[in-house]
Amino acid sequence: MLNGKIAVVTGGTRGIGYAIVRKFLLNGAKVVLFGSRSETVEKALASLAQENPAWEVSGDCPNLSDAAAVADAIEKVREKYGRIDILVNNAGISDSTSIDDYTSEQFEKVMSLNVNAIMNAVIPSVKIMKEQGSGNIINTSSMVSICGQRSGVAYPTSKYAVNGMTWSLARELAPFGIRVNAVAPGITKTDMVANLPEAMIQPLINSIPLRRIGEPDEVADAFVFLASDMASYVTGEILSVDGAMRT
Ligand code: NAD
Repeated sequence: MLNGKIAVVTGGTRGIGYAIVRKFLLNGAKVVLFGSRSETVEKALASLAQENPAWEVSGDCPNLSDAAAVADAIEKVREKYGRIDILVNNAGISDSTSIDDYTSEQFEKVMSLNVNAIMNAVIPSVKIMKEQGSGNIINTSSMVSICGQRSGVAYPTSKYAVNGMTWSLARELAPFGIRVNAVAPGITKTDMVANLPEAMIQPLINSIPLRRIGEPDEVADAFVFLASDMASYVTGEILSVDGAMRT
């Protein structure tokens, strides 16, 4: 579905991002994954190489909050492949701080990675995509962008912003052949959720209409669809992959 496409995936070293990288490779894309540290990037690349040494995948670890560093890393991808077809803005941090404990620094930390960092990758990528006359941007939103959450107000606020960016950029960039969408996962079995005690997991499962937690691969499949030509008329969409939990 993605044969020969060049993709950049931020937060691609583990969890949902790793599953996206793997599914993109399985579907014929060439991928550059971004992670926060060189050690985790190397570990992810080693694991992918072990699964299939023929996959064309490399990695980098620009500080996503540093616009110049991200622009350099994006430019390196263009130098290597001559183009960027798909940009996945997946890196993100969650937050459950209660309102009594919030500091402006904590609020800014979440907004900086979950919102500002996306723009740091979007701005240089869009220049390249406009030149080539096509492109595809997919952001990782969240179920909480639709229903909020009980504490950690920065996190749903940041994901509401991701939806706003997605809708707005979709409209602004459509005339240039660039589609912009987001995937809004529900509770997904990444390290964070896998390590929760059983006593917390079961009530969570009971609140999900499909009665189970989602797998990273199930979320990644939505990215493959949106990145592919199967979604050629889909832009400005926030695609929920949450077992209907938002309701
Ligand atoms: P994870 O913690 O397993 O992975 C997060 C990724 O982001 C990692 O690859 C990490 O390297 C990267 N990252 C974190 N901080 C970074 C930083 N400062 N600089 C650069 N990269 C950084 O989390 P996940 O569950 O796979 O989450 C991925 C995305 O999915 C996030 O945007 C998250 O908000 C969203 N999401 C997750 C769930 C869930 O239940 N797991 C639900 C809804 C949305």
